[in-house]
Amino acid sequence: MTSRNLDQFLESNIANLKENGLYNEIDTVEGANGPEITIKGKTLINLSSNNYLGLATHAELKSVAKQAIESHGVGAGAVRTINGTLDLHIELEKRIAAFKGTEAAIAYQSGFNCNMAAISAVMDKNDAILSDSLNHASIIDGCRLSKAKIIRFEHSDMEDLRAKARDAVESGEYNKIMVITDGVFSMDGDIAKLPEIVEIAEDFDLITYVDDAHGSGVTGDGAGTVKHFGLQDKVDFQMGTLSKAIGVIGGYVAGKQSLIDWLKVRSRPFLFSTAVSPADAVASTKAIEMLMESTELNEKLWENGNYLKKGLKELGFDIGESETPITPCIIGDEKQAQTFSKRLYEEGVYAKAIVFPTVPRGTGRVRNMPTAAHTKEMLDRAIRIYEKIGKEMNLI
Ligand code: PMP
Repeated sequence: MTSRNLDQFLESNIANLKENGLYNEIDTVEGANGPEITIKGKTLINLSSNNYLGLATHAELKSVAKQAIESHGVGAGAVRTINGTLDLHIELEKRIAAFKGTEAAIAYQSGFNCNMAAISAVMDKNDAILSDSLNHASIIDGCRLSKAKIIRFEHSDMEDLRAKARDAVESGEYNKIMVITDGVFSMDGDIAKLPEIVEIAEDFDLITYVDDAHGSGVTGDGAGTVKHFGLQDKVDFQMGTLSKAIGVIGGYVAGKQSLIDWLKVRSRPFLFSTAVSPADAVASTKAIEMLMESTELNEKLWENGNYLKKGLKELGFDIGESETPITPCIIGDEKQAQTFSKRLYEEGVYAKAIVFPTVPRGTGRVRNMPTAAHTKEMLDRAIRIYEKIGKEMNLI
């Protein structure tokens, strides 16, 4: 392809997306990503971040990060297997393992590449992966990279999982079979049925993998969804991110020592990509220490989540079946959901519309992510704005 063809290809496809309202215009946040944010000079109540505990701007984390820059510099200097494994990375991994109740842990540069790395290091073309139909894109890509057969089961449908696990085992076609699920599903806020999943895994000898990106810091008094159900010794891969409740950047797998040893010699982003910076590593370590010492922020998160849910429900909005602070406000029609989000923005609330294909057709919604850092005043203001626009658009 000549470069002129590339230009034509890109320009016509972008024009097409714009015509169909599918081109994502990205807003620039001016300053920190806190409970309130500034966009184009306008201050908005921020109900769109994954900064569940408000740690992204926490004074103690900023302070340890600054000290780490002084003592260790701004970069790790090399990939970890050459000489970029700093004492701070080892500290972080020890802390993650203690947090998750496992023998060991391995840290990656992001949650996304952690899934790509870990799934493909263990599964191969002779294997099969049973994957929940609403699993995150990084799980899907990790499964594809592994070349294993991907068998999707209906979202949280345990009969479907059991039937598909049985078929996969009875076919005799696969060496290893894994079941993989999000711990908390971020679009609806529902929690995976881990006790049943683990039971099915035991019946059919499946490897178990839980991506708890949205559960860590949130469920299980902050320790995550596996702890919430007391299943620490039944889940092989406890995967999580350091970018959401922990407030920094990075991803990890916690599990048995043998699994972590294997990932350290076989997972390609660990072997061929430089680790997170010293500041990131210590800030994450400190955040986890804080979560292990106190549940105060976690309690505040749930209090705020319940407060917002109650407020929106009392107004007559459909807030779905969320079991976590994630609060969807289901509008239905995609265009209406987008208009609703735009009107919220104009009135001072930043909450994004989520539409097909991210959620099923006809379930367009505005998704709210309350955090521990929101004040009651902010949540009350947001609820009043929801009321105003809900009435204006004849939704309540
Ligand atoms: N897994 C899930 C379930 C997620 O929601 C996300 C983030 N959207 C990731 C993995 C990727 O995490 P990170 O942003 O740290 O790369």
